[in-house]
Amino acid sequence: MKQLLHAFVTKKRERGRVCLLIVLAALAAGFWLGPDAAAPVEAPATGTLAGLHVALDPGHGGYDGGARGQESGLWEKELTLQIALAVEAELLARGAEVTLTRREDLCLAGGDGASRARKREDLLARRALAEAAGADVLMSIHLNEYRDRGESGPQVFYQRGGDAGRLLAGALQEALVAGLEPARVRQAMAGDYYVLQGKLPSVLVECGFLSNAREEALLMDAAYQRRIAQALADGLEQYAALSERLAQ
Ligand SMILES: [Zn+2]
Repeated sequence: MKQLLHAFVTKKRERGRVCLLIVLAALAAGFWLGPDAAAPVEAPATGTLAGLHVALDPGHGGYDGGARGQESGLWEKELTLQIALAVEAELLARGAEVTLTRREDLCLAGGDGASRARKREDLLARRALAEAAGADVLMSIHLNEYRDRGESGPQVFYQRGGDAGRLLAGALQEALVAGLEPARVRQAMAGDYYVLQGKLPSVLVECGFLSNAREEALLMDAAYQRRIAQALADGLEQYAALSERLAQ
């Protein structure tokens, strides 16, 4: 009995020690992994975008590479993720809450191979993820391409008939033009996009054309990616101010 009790106490003490180690490891992981890992519990309460929850969707991924850089051979899916991560950093710095639909090179649908059904399932999963996270807006990040390699300039699309999406797209388009000073100035435009047909105000941001050699080089540049991020954050500030005014 005494032995049993001793064993029990020792086990209990060991369990306590194991628990303490787990807690310390979790704290260390939170510390070392930086703002990404700590964001859900320690999102800054102040900043120009405090209170806004943004879902960022790096377009394409996995089997679906999207467009391809004519000069570099880089896939759209790689650049959309780089740009989305830059946007996330900028939004977190301004106090927003951010949810990314993917952080790796993957497609959100099950199965394998390329098919319309799988593409649709992937897009639906991105929308569902943004809605389940409780985001206020969804921004899907993409890069354009066109057979005429002279075409260039960022352009924001919204779902036809959606007022909040139109307001968001207009604010982001204006901010991209002001921040990037593109040679070709485009307007926000309505369209029919499956990823935008959810409950949230949603936009598809075409950051520029991969089919244009000059713009392709810019889009691959980390400093230009930061400028895109700053412009989109500026646009979100404008959108938040406009929606607040409209709600009054
Ligand atoms: Zn795309």
